[in-house]
Amino acid sequence: MSSKTMLQQALTRFFDAAKHLNIDPTILEKWEFPLETTHARLTIRMDDGSLKSFRAWRSRNDDTRGPTKGGIRYHQSVTADEVETLAFLMTIKCAVVNLPFGGGKGGVQIDPLSLSKTELERLSRRYVQIFSKVIGPNRDIPAPDVNTNAMIMAWMANEYDSIVGEVTPAVITGKPISLGGSLGRDDATARGGYYLLEYLAKDLGFTPGARVAIQGFGNAGSHIAQLLESAGHKVVAVSDSKGAIGGPTGIDIGQLSLAKERNGSVTSLAGAHGTSKIAADELVSVDCDLLVLAAMEDMVHAGNAANVKAPIILELANSPITPEADEILKNRGVVVIPDILANAGGVTVSYFEWVQNRQGYYWPIEDIHARLKTKMEEEGAAIWASAKEKNITLRSAAYVHALSRLVDAIY
Ligand code: GLU
Repeated sequence: MSSKTMLQQALTRFFDAAKHLNIDPTILEKWEFPLETTHARLTIRMDDGSLKSFRAWRSRNDDTRGPTKGGIRYHQSVTADEVETLAFLMTIKCAVVNLPFGGGKGGVQIDPLSLSKTELERLSRRYVQIFSKVIGPNRDIPAPDVNTNAMIMAWMANEYDSIVGEVTPAVITGKPISLGGSLGRDDATARGGYYLLEYLAKDLGFTPGARVAIQGFGNAGSHIAQLLESAGHKVVAVSDSKGAIGGPTGIDIGQLSLAKERNGSVTSLAGAHGTSKIAADELVSVDCDLLVLAAMEDMVHAGNAANVKAPIILELANSPITPEADEILKNRGVVVIPDILANAGGVTVSYFEWVQNRQGYYWPIEDIHARLKTKMEEEGAAIWASAKEKNITLRSAAYVHALSRLVDAIY
């Protein structure tokens, strides 16, 4: 394990990319720490009448290109370093796909499964009460992330409305459709990655009927599984936080989603429909044509990168590969489609939602899909070409692409 903080590790990639551009190095200094991070305590009343307190953060990394934008995650292992790193990645991601946003991120250190629905509502409303001065439709716009969803966004938007005294849907994205959410936001992260894969398929050697392993079966993982299955690919292994299953002839994704919904884990399908349990840490080393990382950070690291058999990795999670593992994968010829491009579909449709909220006119699903597809293809093509031209990885090329946009905006 590196002794650097997670933010310092992420910055290494950024500063390395800067070497490919002729820029004043003092411009980069500001990224060594965020614009602002607020650390707060959320105290809520539990259903049994007791009081409980939780640590919470909102970090705004940089607003050079627009208001800060990024999700809020609920997870027992959330830390300030993690939130600040993910906020930094949002700055880069928004620049990669040319959205008029900087980067932000929030988190609450809590296992959401330990709360009842009413406790979860009180926690989410409390988050907005505490951070009401930080967020705002022209300042910092939250969205869903790990373990948060449209319901939570609705509670948060409603709380914000009552604090400011007016209906302000553009303060938060990923809302339910009935409350100003955008069509197509629910599967946007996966769909953006899928459009990219389809577009680059020839260059990548990603052929029909590919065998795919997916780590994580939350929003991104479950939607990409459906999209890949519909396109005729075979999902041969899937994991979630409770374990993993394999199905060499292709796992039925409809059955898998049902099993997850009913029993809380993909492992409950094991033994049926030609599937069996496999060790969760074996998922990254499954023999397949594409590995999709859709779980948490640092899942592919120096200790297991050499075992990856897939020639292509799609990073739908944020920062699932450590810099040490990047090096190992590069030397082994594994092509990594990096998070800051691969999962940018989520924030792109969040941007569409914010635009629709501000104009008060809503687009049909076909428009959302077409706009998302164009965005992923245009930015993907530019990054692919630059990686070839400079003989660098797609990740480095994506950083260079983002950095040149950021530098352009600094006067
Ligand atoms: N949480 C998502 C991400 O990491 C989406 C952020 C957003 O829509 O603002 O990209």
